[in-house]
Amino acid sequence: MKLSQKKSIITAIIFILILSVIQGCQDKEELPEATATTFAMDTIIQMKAYGVKAQEVIDASFGRIRDIENRMSAHIKSSQIEIINSNPGQEIKVDKDTFLVIKKALEYAKLTEGKFDPSIGPLVQLWGIGTEKARVPDDKEIKDALSVVNYRWIELNEENTTVKITKKGMRLDLGAIVKGYAADEVRRIVLENKIKSAYVNLGGNVMVIGSKPDGSLWNIGIQDPRLERGSVMASIRLEDKTIVTSGNYERYFIEDGILYHHIIDPITGKPARSGVISASIITQNSFDADALSTSVFILGPEKGMELVEKLPHIEAIIITDDLKVIISSGLIGKVKILDPDFKLRSE
Ligand code: ADP
Ligand code: MG
Repeated sequence: MKLSQKKSIITAIIFILILSVIQGCQDKEELPEATATTFAMDTIIQMKAYGVKAQEVIDASFGRIRDIENRMSAHIKSSQIEIINSNPGQEIKVDKDTFLVIKKALEYAKLTEGKFDPSIGPLVQLWGIGTEKARVPDDKEIKDALSVVNYRWIELNEENTTVKITKKGMRLDLGAIVKGYAADEVRRIVLENKIKSAYVNLGGNVMVIGSKPDGSLWNIGIQDPRLERGSVMASIRLEDKTIVTSGNYERYFIEDGILYHHIIDPITGKPARSGVISASIITQNSFDADALSTSVFILGPEKGMELVEKLPHIEAIIITDDLKVIISSGLIGKVKILDPDFKLRSE
């Protein structure tokens, strides 16, 4: 073979190689993508997925979210929670998933010495925050509601998956944990369908599965607690993680200049005033993150961060009412503050 022939063969091979690399990149970019928004669990749910079965997976995920809502909502008459609530003193057989969520809620009630309390229902109803009936109740009403709030009066029977509330007037409310469970279920459905890249946001309860299709991390914004939803004050890059935020801006009303929000301190019977206006938890399971974000919000910056630092693989971003941003040790160097009103402080 002549030298010139050899050269042209090598050039052709290089050309083909370059072409296939470009093709490969294009294949990646052309991964089918599906995006959808729905309303369930009293909030807006957005999901994005990449892959051949992207749309199918979103449909299945939204179906599962509705199924969880129908079983576990405290506002749906036929839900298993409503059946438990309207039958005090009786052992009520529930589905395995409902049992699992109640059991998990009780674990967090114990861990937080009752600051997180899934029997908060009577107080949630009394305040009616987020409904047309929202109002500031009087002290007697709060006292009466408090007398039927105590997670120790929930009895579980693991073998039969039955749940019993032992006091009349008690009401279970899983609002602080059920979206976390739903996000974990979305991840299960996504992975079962071999989708490597997806994102779901259940009203501030975000789960990212894998990285973005191009291999880069997801850039997640942290809501500015002073402003309407969608205003971001910081960001963090994540893969395969959940970030769940509890804030006083989610559901509230203002009366005589005082903001009354939907996270209730089971000791005072009133919206928690712990100095925290937003608590975000970052970890693997949204179930834990959801329970913990509500717990940390009520516990306050010191006790909240103390709890987070004690737990393995759990990170937190706490925003206080004087706009300090306190981050757990595992997040040092990872949180980007975008609004200079907020000052970063690591614990
Ligand atoms: P969001 O639902 O806005 O994402 P959270 O996860 O913090 O926020 O949950 C707040 C909901 O949890 C309330 O609307 C109420 O249903 C319930 N809840 C309020 N206070 C408590 C509490 N102390 N313990 C457990 N659940 C609570
Ligand atoms: Mg929560």
